[in-house]
Amino acid sequence: MNIYILTSGEYGSRIVNNIAKSFSSSIVGIHEVPPDLPEFIDDVTSYVPDNLPQADLIVAVGLIGDINLIAPLVATETGAKSIIISVHKPSAVPPGLMSEIKDNSGDKVVVFAKPFCSLKPMGDPFIDEFTGKLGKPVMTIEGDEFIKKVTVIRDAPCGCTTFIAEELEGVPVEEAEYIGDIKFHNYPCQASMTLDRGLGDTILHVAGYISKEAVRRGLGFSMKSAVVDMETCNTEGEECDHLCVQSCPQVKVGVDTILIGEDNRAHIDPASCGCCEQCLGECPYGSIEIVKKRFDIKKEE
Ligand code: SF4
Ligand code: SF4
Repeated sequence: MNIYILTSGEYGSRIVNNIAKSFSSSIVGIHEVPPDLPEFIDDVTSYVPDNLPQADLIVAVGLIGDINLIAPLVATETGAKSIIISVHKPSAVPPGLMSEIKDNSGDKVVVFAKPFCSLKPMGDPFIDEFTGKLGKPVMTIEGDEFIKKVTVIRDAPCGCTTFIAEELEGVPVEEAEYIGDIKFHNYPCQASMTLDRGLGDTILHVAGYISKEAVRRGLGFSMKSAVVDMETCNTEGEECDHLCVQSCPQVKVGVDTILIGEDNRAHIDPASCGCCEQCLGECPYGSIEIVKKRFDIKKEE
Protein backbone atom coordinates (compact mmCIF):
# COMPACT_ATOMS: atom_id res chain seq x y z
CA MET A 1 0.00 0.00 0.00
CA ASN A 2 1.24 3.48 -0.86
CA ILE A 3 0.25 6.27 1.54
CA TYR A 4 0.38 9.99 0.73
CA ILE A 5 0.04 12.31 3.72
CA LEU A 6 -1.26 15.87 3.93
CA THR A 7 -0.31 17.40 7.26
CA SER A 8 -0.47 20.72 9.06
CA GLY A 9 0.64 22.10 12.41
CA GLU A 10 1.84 20.47 15.60
CA TYR A 11 -1.05 17.99 15.75
CA GLY A 12 -0.26 16.77 12.24
CA SER A 13 3.49 16.46 12.98
CA ARG A 14 3.00 14.18 15.94
CA ILE A 15 0.66 11.87 14.02
CA VAL A 16 2.95 11.76 10.98
CA ASN A 17 5.89 10.78 13.19
CA ASN A 18 3.86 7.91 14.62
CA ILE A 19 2.51 6.78 11.22
CA ALA A 20 6.13 6.64 10.04
CA LYS A 21 6.96 4.13 12.81
CA SER A 22 4.37 1.66 11.48
CA PHE A 23 4.31 2.45 7.75
CA SER A 24 7.77 3.84 6.92
CA SER A 25 8.12 1.85 3.69
CA SER A 26 4.55 2.69 2.58
CA ILE A 27 4.77 6.49 2.73
CA VAL A 28 5.33 7.81 -0.79
CA GLY A 29 5.06 11.49 0.04
CA ILE A 30 4.28 14.02 2.76
CA HIS A 31 3.01 17.51 1.98
CA GLU A 32 3.11 20.11 4.74
CA VAL A 33 0.26 22.63 4.52
CA PRO A 34 1.00 26.01 6.19
CA PRO A 35 -0.96 26.20 9.48
CA ASP A 36 -1.92 29.87 9.02
CA LEU A 37 -4.20 29.54 5.96
CA PRO A 38 -7.63 31.21 6.14
CA GLU A 39 -10.50 28.90 7.16
CA PHE A 40 -12.42 29.85 3.98
CA ILE A 41 -10.56 29.61 0.65
CA ASP A 42 -12.16 30.52 -2.72
CA ASP A 43 -9.99 28.28 -4.90
CA VAL A 44 -8.04 25.43 -3.29
CA THR A 45 -6.64 24.05 -6.56
CA SER A 46 -3.55 26.29 -6.30
CA TYR A 47 -2.65 24.49 -3.04
CA VAL A 48 -2.48 21.03 -4.64
CA PRO A 49 1.19 19.94 -4.67
CA ASP A 50 2.98 19.33 -8.01
CA ASN A 51 4.55 16.06 -9.19
CA LEU A 52 2.39 13.78 -7.07
CA PRO A 53 3.35 10.07 -6.91
CA GLN A 54 1.00 7.13 -7.37
CA ALA A 55 -0.81 6.37 -4.08
CA ASP A 56 -3.57 4.13 -2.71
CA LEU A 57 -4.52 6.01 0.44
CA ILE A 58 -4.57 9.73 1.27
CA VAL A 59 -4.33 10.63 4.97
CA ALA A 60 -5.05 14.26 5.95
CA VAL A 61 -4.12 15.25 9.52
CA GLY A 62 -4.25 18.62 11.23
CA LEU A 63 -5.77 20.55 8.28
CA ILE A 64 -8.25 23.26 9.28
CA GLY A 65 -11.19 24.39 7.15
CA ASP A 66 -11.49 24.56 3.36
CA ILE A 67 -7.92 23.40 2.73
CA ASN A 68 -9.24 19.88 3.45
CA LEU A 69 -10.85 20.14 -0.01
CA ILE A 70 -7.44 19.36 -1.52
CA ALA A 71 -7.73 15.76 -0.21
CA PRO A 72 -10.07 14.53 -3.00
CA LEU A 73 -8.06 16.53 -5.58
CA VAL A 74 -4.82 14.87 -4.42
CA ALA A 75 -6.58 11.49 -4.46
CA THR A 76 -7.59 12.03 -8.09
CA GLU A 77 -4.05 13.09 -9.10
CA THR A 78 -2.41 10.13 -7.32
CA GLY A 79 -5.05 7.57 -8.32
CA ALA A 80 -5.94 6.91 -4.67
CA LYS A 81 -9.41 5.48 -4.04
CA SER A 82 -9.42 5.86 -0.25
CA ILE A 83 -9.16 8.96 1.94
CA ILE A 84 -8.91 9.36 5.71
CA ILE A 85 -9.48 12.86 7.08
CA SER A 86 -8.84 13.22 10.80
CA VAL A 87 -10.88 15.78 12.73
CA HIS A 88 -9.21 17.01 15.92
CA LYS A 89 -11.18 20.23 16.45
CA PRO A 90 -14.76 21.25 15.59
CA SER A 91 -13.64 23.97 13.16
CA ALA A 92 -11.39 21.54 11.26
CA VAL A 93 -14.18 19.98 9.21
CA PRO A 94 -17.67 21.32 10.05
CA PRO A 95 -20.66 19.29 8.73
CA GLY A 96 -21.18 21.47 5.61
CA LEU A 97 -17.55 21.01 4.59
CA MET A 98 -17.82 17.24 5.16
CA SER A 99 -20.70 17.12 2.67
CA GLU A 100 -18.73 19.21 0.15
CA ILE A 101 -15.69 16.92 0.45
CA LYS A 102 -17.90 13.84 -0.01
CA ASP A 103 -19.58 15.41 -3.05
CA ASN A 104 -16.16 16.18 -4.54
CA SER A 105 -14.85 12.66 -3.88
CA GLY A 106 -16.96 10.84 -6.50
CA ASP A 107 -16.59 7.07 -6.09
CA LYS A 108 -13.68 7.33 -3.66
CA VAL A 109 -14.17 6.11 -0.09
CA VAL A 110 -13.76 9.00 2.33
CA VAL A 111 -13.92 8.62 6.09
CA PHE A 112 -13.89 11.43 8.66
CA ALA A 113 -12.26 10.17 11.84
CA LYS A 114 -13.40 12.35 14.77
CA PRO A 115 -11.23 11.81 16.73
CA PHE A 116 -8.60 9.93 14.69
CA CYS A 117 -8.46 7.25 17.40
CA SER A 118 -12.12 6.35 16.70
CA LEU A 119 -11.16 4.90 13.28
CA LYS A 120 -12.06 1.21 12.90
CA PRO A 121 -11.89 -1.24 9.97
CA MET A 122 -14.79 -0.46 7.64
CA GLY A 123 -14.53 -2.79 4.64
CA ASP A 124 -12.17 -0.70 2.48
CA PRO A 125 -8.93 -2.61 1.74
CA PHE A 126 -6.57 0.36 2.21
CA ILE A 127 -8.28 1.93 5.22
CA ASP A 128 -8.46 -1.53 6.80
CA GLU A 129 -4.74 -2.12 6.16
CA PHE A 130 -4.08 1.19 7.93
CA THR A 131 -6.34 0.23 10.87
CA GLY A 132 -4.44 -3.06 11.10
CA LYS A 133 -1.86 -0.99 13.00
CA LEU A 134 -3.32 2.44 13.81
CA GLY A 135 -6.79 3.66 14.77
CA LYS A 136 -9.12 2.77 17.63
CA PRO A 137 -6.72 1.41 20.26
CA VAL A 138 -6.69 -2.26 21.28
CA MET A 139 -4.41 -3.82 23.88
CA THR A 140 -4.07 -7.11 25.74
CA ILE A 141 -3.07 -7.13 29.41
CA GLU A 142 -1.56 -10.00 31.38
CA GLY A 143 -1.34 -10.22 35.17
CA ASP A 144 -3.59 -11.18 38.09
CA GLU A 145 -2.92 -8.77 40.94
CA PHE A 146 -0.35 -6.58 39.18
CA ILE A 147 0.04 -5.97 35.44
CA LYS A 148 2.89 -8.09 34.06
CA LYS A 149 2.70 -7.41 30.36
CA VAL A 150 0.77 -5.10 28.03
CA THR A 151 0.71 -5.74 24.28
CA VAL A 152 -0.55 -3.05 21.93
CA ILE A 153 -2.53 -4.66 19.10
CA ARG A 154 -3.58 -1.35 17.54
CA ASP A 155 -2.01 1.95 18.60
CA ALA A 156 -3.85 5.27 18.59
CA PRO A 157 -2.57 7.28 15.57
CA CYS A 158 -0.75 9.69 17.92
CA GLY A 159 1.08 6.85 19.71
CA CYS A 160 -0.51 7.38 23.11
CA THR A 161 -1.56 3.73 23.51
CA THR A 162 2.08 2.59 23.37
CA PHE A 163 2.98 5.26 25.94
CA ILE A 164 0.13 4.18 28.26
CA ALA A 165 1.01 0.49 27.83
CA GLU A 166 4.60 1.09 29.00
CA GLU A 167 3.36 3.05 32.02
CA LEU A 168 0.86 0.37 33.07
CA GLU A 169 3.36 -2.45 33.61
CA GLY A 170 3.70 -3.16 37.35
CA VAL A 171 0.52 -1.28 38.28
CA PRO A 172 -2.19 -3.02 40.45
CA VAL A 173 -4.89 -4.23 38.03
CA GLU A 174 -7.70 -2.45 39.89
CA GLU A 175 -5.89 0.89 39.58
CA ALA A 176 -5.03 0.46 35.89
CA GLU A 177 -8.15 2.19 34.51
CA TYR A 178 -7.51 5.26 36.67
CA ILE A 179 -3.75 5.34 35.98
CA GLY A 180 -4.37 4.82 32.26
CA ASP A 181 -6.57 7.95 32.32
CA ILE A 182 -3.83 9.99 33.97
CA LYS A 183 -1.20 8.76 31.49
CA PHE A 184 -3.53 9.62 28.59
CA HIS A 185 -3.57 13.23 29.83
CA ASN A 186 0.19 13.18 30.50
CA TYR A 187 0.99 12.22 26.88
CA PRO A 188 -0.98 14.60 26.21
CA CYS A 189 -3.81 14.27 23.67
CA GLN A 190 -3.76 17.31 21.37
CA ALA A 191 -7.41 17.14 20.31
CA SER A 192 -9.56 20.18 21.04
CA MET A 193 -11.19 21.04 24.38
CA THR A 194 -13.83 23.13 22.56
CA LEU A 195 -17.35 21.71 22.69
CA ASP A 196 -18.16 19.88 19.46
CA ARG A 197 -21.90 20.35 18.89
CA GLY A 198 -22.18 17.16 16.83
CA LEU A 199 -20.72 15.06 19.64
CA GLY A 200 -22.21 17.05 22.53
CA ASP A 201 -18.77 16.83 24.16
CA THR A 202 -15.19 17.83 23.39
CA ILE A 203 -13.15 15.76 20.95
CA LEU A 204 -10.43 15.41 23.62
CA HIS A 205 -12.93 13.92 26.09
CA VAL A 206 -14.15 11.40 23.52
CA ALA A 207 -10.54 10.40 22.79
CA GLY A 208 -10.16 9.82 26.54
CA TYR A 209 -13.23 7.52 26.63
CA ILE A 210 -11.79 5.55 23.70
CA SER A 211 -8.42 5.16 25.44
CA LYS A 212 -10.12 4.08 28.68
CA GLU A 213 -12.15 1.47 26.78
CA ALA A 214 -8.94 -0.08 25.43
CA VAL A 215 -7.53 -0.43 28.96
CA ARG A 216 -10.80 -1.89 30.30
CA ARG A 217 -11.11 -4.43 27.49
CA GLY A 218 -7.48 -5.42 28.02
CA LEU A 219 -8.16 -5.94 31.73
CA GLY A 220 -11.51 -7.69 31.25
CA PHE A 221 -13.27 -5.37 33.68
CA SER A 222 -14.30 -1.79 34.30
CA MET A 223 -14.31 -0.02 37.69
CA LYS A 224 -17.01 2.57 36.95
CA SER A 225 -19.97 2.95 34.59
CA ALA A 226 -23.37 4.56 34.12
CA VAL A 227 -26.09 2.02 34.97
CA VAL A 228 -29.79 2.01 34.06
CA ASP A 229 -32.42 1.22 36.70
CA MET A 230 -34.56 -1.46 35.05
CA GLU A 231 -37.47 -0.66 37.35
CA THR A 232 -37.88 2.94 36.25
CA CYS A 233 -36.51 2.96 32.65
CA ASN A 234 -39.66 3.45 30.59
CA THR A 235 -39.02 3.46 26.85
CA GLU A 236 -42.74 3.58 26.20
CA GLY A 237 -43.18 6.71 28.30
CA GLU A 238 -44.14 9.82 26.34
CA GLU A 239 -41.09 11.77 27.41
CA CYS A 240 -38.50 9.04 26.86
CA ASP A 241 -37.75 9.21 23.12
CA HIS A 242 -34.52 7.28 23.94
CA LEU A 243 -32.95 10.57 24.99
CA CYS A 244 -30.11 8.72 26.73
CA VAL A 245 -29.05 7.11 23.45
CA GLN A 246 -29.35 10.39 21.58
CA SER A 247 -27.19 12.23 24.11
CA CYS A 248 -24.32 9.73 24.41
CA PRO A 249 -21.10 11.01 22.76
CA GLN A 250 -19.82 7.46 22.40
CA VAL A 251 -22.94 6.47 20.44
CA LYS A 252 -22.30 9.50 18.22
CA VAL A 253 -18.87 8.15 17.25
CA GLY A 254 -20.39 4.78 16.36
CA VAL A 255 -19.94 2.80 19.59
CA ASP A 256 -22.83 0.68 20.96
CA THR A 257 -22.48 2.19 24.44
CA ILE A 258 -26.26 2.41 24.99
CA LEU A 259 -28.57 -0.06 23.29
CA ILE A 260 -32.31 -0.52 23.67
CA GLY A 261 -32.74 -4.24 24.37
CA GLU A 262 -35.53 -6.65 23.46
CA ASP A 263 -36.88 -5.97 26.96
CA ASN A 264 -37.46 -2.36 25.79
CA ARG A 265 -34.99 -1.06 28.37
CA ALA A 266 -31.75 0.85 27.84
CA HIS A 267 -28.56 -1.11 28.53
CA ILE A 268 -25.18 0.57 29.01
CA ASP A 269 -21.91 -1.13 28.09
CA PRO A 270 -19.49 -0.66 31.04
CA ALA A 271 -16.49 -1.16 28.73
CA SER A 272 -17.17 1.91 26.61
CA CYS A 273 -19.14 4.20 28.97
CA GLY A 274 -16.95 7.26 29.49
CA CYS A 275 -18.95 8.28 32.60
CA CYS A 276 -19.52 11.72 31.05
CA GLU A 277 -22.93 11.88 32.81
CA GLN A 278 -24.74 13.36 29.79
CA CYS A 279 -27.39 10.61 29.78
CA LEU A 280 -28.04 11.11 33.50
CA GLY A 281 -29.36 14.60 32.85
CA GLU A 282 -31.33 13.60 29.74
CA CYS A 283 -33.41 10.70 31.07
CA PRO A 284 -36.78 12.22 32.05
CA TYR A 285 -37.30 9.51 34.69
CA GLY A 286 -33.90 9.88 36.38
CA SER A 287 -33.23 6.22 35.63
CA ILE A 288 -29.45 6.42 35.17
CA GLU A 289 -26.74 6.76 37.76
CA ILE A 290 -22.96 6.37 37.89
CA VAL A 291 -21.94 3.26 39.82
CA LYS A 292 -18.42 2.54 41.10
CA LYS A 293 -17.82 -1.20 41.33
CA ARG A 294 -16.08 -3.91 39.33
CA PHE A 295 -18.03 -4.75 36.14
CA ASP A 296 -16.75 -7.87 34.36
CA ILE A 297 -16.58 -7.51 30.58
CA LYS A 298 -15.26 -9.67 27.74
CA LYS A 299 -11.46 -9.64 27.95
CA GLU A 300 -9.43 -8.80 24.84
CA GLU A 301 -7.43 -11.93 23.98
S1 SF4 B 1 -32.92 5.38 30.48
FE1 SF4 B 1 -34.46 7.03 30.37
S2 SF4 B 1 -34.15 8.02 28.35
FE2 SF4 B 1 -33.06 6.04 28.32
S3 SF4 B 1 -34.50 4.60 27.40
FE3 SF4 B 1 -34.77 4.47 29.65
S4 SF4 B 1 -36.37 5.96 30.12
FE4 SF4 B 1 -35.68 6.44 28.06
S1 SF4 C 1 -22.34 8.40 31.01
FE1 SF4 C 1 -24.04 7.98 29.61
S2 SF4 C 1 -23.77 9.44 27.91
FE2 SF4 C 1 -21.80 9.34 29.02
S3 SF4 C 1 -20.60 7.79 27.92
FE3 SF4 C 1 -21.67 6.73 29.63
S4 SF4 C 1 -23.56 5.98 28.69
FE4 SF4 C 1 -22.75 7.55 27.28
